[in-house]
Amino acid sequence: MSVPKFEQIGRALREHQRFALLSHVRPDGDAIGSQLALALSLKDLGKDVRVWNEDGMLEKYSFVASASLLNKPPPTPEDVDVAIALDTAIQNRLGTALAAIGSTKMWINIDHHPSNPGYGDIAYIDPNAPATGQIIFELIKSQNLPLDPKIAENLYVAISTDTGSFQYPNTTAHTFEIAAELVRIGVDVGRVSQQLYENYPRRRIELLSKLLATMRFEVGGRVASFSLSLDLARQLGVLPEDNEGLIDHLRAVRGVVVAVFFEELADGKVRVSMRSKSDAADVCAICQKFGGGGHRLAAGARVRGSLAEVERKILEAVRNVVGRDS
Ligand code: 5GP
Ligand code: MN
Repeated sequence: MSVPKFEQIGRALREHQRFALLSHVRPDGDAIGSQLALALSLKDLGKDVRVWNEDGMLEKYSFVASASLLNKPPPTPEDVDVAIALDTAIQNRLGTALAAIGSTKMWINIDHHPSNPGYGDIAYIDPNAPATGQIIFELIKSQNLPLDPKIAENLYVAISTDTGSFQYPNTTAHTFEIAAELVRIGVDVGRVSQQLYENYPRRRIELLSKLLATMRFEVGGRVASFSLSLDLARQLGVLPEDNEGLIDHLRAVRGVVVAVFFEELADGKVRVSMRSKSDAADVCAICQKFGGGGHRLAAGARVRGSLAEVERKILEAVRNVVGRDS
């Protein structure tokens, strides 16, 4: 935690009036929770705040406090004083939200991806934080910014989802202390957890059954993968958000070191999602070779090519790492 950097950000937040809070395309709970938490805190200070995401609010997260604040970016760019990118490792992952910023006096970049190059006028990158939501909590506390039950709920969603429900190795005592404080402020853990983890649409489990039918294991069971074709996605009527977390079923298998999920997209690319259970198998490094990024144990990329081509190239790269030294 860097207090001088937080002070610099705190000053920028207090001194300016018009803000845009942005996050990455295909947002997850950390992206949405971080955006809404900081937005609510700034609104409590009387600031004029836009909260934009290329995909808008997802059905899955629409239960969170003040969900309606988050919108798709407007078609005509708007001028703001400060644009803030949250949880976004490279600026162009902001997608159409980036194009909606007409002019801004300042870019602030707050993130926990180690691959973040630190773009922007003020960059606060903490690769040890398990979630951007944890950094937002620390910022709010260190700068005495407003923190109420709605903000707490959004921060809890951000931290719970990015730690795999407080399970991933970067979940520390400090993370649990923050969670405890959020619960004391008023987060209803049972309700939030049920909304996050026990409220999926039926089509998601139908999708899982089809994915499991494509499951393959290699390198002695150390690599597991499955794939979703565009045809199948259309046939099942699934939304992009439906597959979030399904890769965990592969990672959860004994002996699996790296799990890979391939999703054919409509733009001629394949979305590759990777998870690792071993520090020796750095999936971020693999994804970076294909123009992607992320974290050591959870990373992704969008790779041009047919599903079969991308599967072949990526699995070869994975075999090179897992077969060799993990
Ligand atoms: P997921 O597999 O859940 O989509 O993403 C896992 C991690 O990898 C996230 O931290 C996410 O930000 C990162 N990631 C996923 N896809 C991409 C991508 O196309 N480019 C980059 N730079 N990072 C990605
Ligand atoms: Mn995150």
